[in-house]
Amino acid sequence: MYVLYGGFIFMVGGCLASFFYLLADRLPRKERIGWSRSHCDTCHHVLSPLTLIPVLSFLCLGGKCRYCHTKFSPLYLFYEAVGGTLVIYLTWHYPDAYGNWFLYLLLFLIAVVDQQHFIIPDLFQIGLFLLILASHHSNGQLGNPAYLLGAFAMLLVSGISALLVRDGLGGGDIKLLGLFGWALGFHGATLVLFLASLMGLSSIFMRHHSNKEQLHAPIPFGPFLVLAFFFVREIA
Ligand SMILES: [Zn+2]
Repeated sequence: MYVLYGGFIFMVGGCLASFFYLLADRLPRKERIGWSRSHCDTCHHVLSPLTLIPVLSFLCLGGKCRYCHTKFSPLYLFYEAVGGTLVIYLTWHYPDAYGNWFLYLLLFLIAVVDQQHFIIPDLFQIGLFLLILASHHSNGQLGNPAYLLGAFAMLLVSGISALLVRDGLGGGDIKLLGLFGWALGFHGATLVLFLASLMGLSSIFMRHHSNKEQLHAPIPFGPFLVLAFFFVREIA
């Protein structure tokens, strides 16, 4: 019974992830979302409901469109798996804490959008600001100077590093780090910055080994920041 329930929850998370991916993919093109049925971007064939089952359908079809056999991005499978795992984690750890649901789902969306377009829309940052505000308010920590110091320190450190390193941190990364500083305080946010930098450097290193030409291609930092924030807030 638990396996069935777990499978169902995983599917819900996977569907949410494919919706986020679609949202991130279509937003800049101003395509209609939600009311138009999902279709293959190459042959425009409408995808049947069965091909929309997360992870399983991707694996069954070998990651290709059923009609024109164009390959879908493997990122699609990756996001579906991450989304499914995240929703299982949230159901398990935070059955009633909806603030945490909103927080982590919004951060997941931020990571997906930043990974594809190198931007973190201000609307998402405002949403994040409001969620942290609500969380501090309900914990009675709104006036705690330790969190304000965290925000200030992160804005300062990331602002200076953006000035010193050309093509380093972007404006969206700086704002996100400031918000993480406010959410976790100075020590937690410093750990986030350290872990995210470590992951970013490892990914550059791995890319250097697999494809030397891409060494100077930019990497989005937001997904690493989000992942590091999740680890620090949940585990550290
Ligand atoms: Zn197709």
